Amino acid sequence: MKLDKIVVASGNEGKIAEIKAIFKDAEIVSMGELGFTDEIEETGSTFKENAYIKAAVIAKKYNMPALSDDSGLCVDALGGAPGVYSARFSGEGSKANRALLLKRMEHITDRRAHFESAVCLCTPDGKTYFGEGKTFGKILQEEIGTNGFGYDCLFFSDDLKKSFGIAGDDEKNAVSHRFRALQDLKSKLK
Ligand code: IMP
Repeated sequence: MKLDKIVVASGNEGKIAEIKAIFKDAEIVSMGELGFTDEIEETGSTFKENAYIKAAVIAKKYNMPALSDDSGLCVDALGGAPGVYSARFSGEGSKANRALLLKRMEHITDRRAHFESAVCLCTPDGKTYFGEGKTFGKILQEEIGTNGFGYDCLFFSDDLKKSFGIAGDDEKNAVSHRFRALQDLKSKLK
């Protein structure tokens, strides 16, 4: 399918920048650039459901193909938490989310975790396509680096052998859950 212009159904600047860098074949505009500033309530219990909710709302509103990502950090020793609640883990933003994660992991030696992303593309004629991706690593004992967003500086990537917080954009984008989910989506659009 040929897509010239896609609106990204997200207000997260970090995600939008990554999607623009990865999805280079089309013109990407953010919903903010189109004037949409409302919160879309993520009522789903899976990344896939939440991705669909966001893309469907924006595709309908702007009558344009809409792409969304719903993603999060899943920590093995915490039974997959914070998972779909990653953005709302502490209720007080990214910095407090990271502090809460470190607190919960204080006496835990099994630090295995992965980021997970579900991306969804909804077209105005009602078609829906999904892509899914994961990237594996460990939760660090303290923040390392200031690059990226969210939990990046607490995530030691098994692929890069360093914190996402010190990885360059291109390095992270080559192994990230979002990149893998977008590749999966692209293979389904062909
Ligand atoms: P969403 O907007 O509901 O999908 O929330 C995703 C949340 O998961 C973000 O706010 C971050 O806390 C976390 N997250 C997702 N992807 C990444 C990433 O690539 N790096 C760091 N944190 C991420």
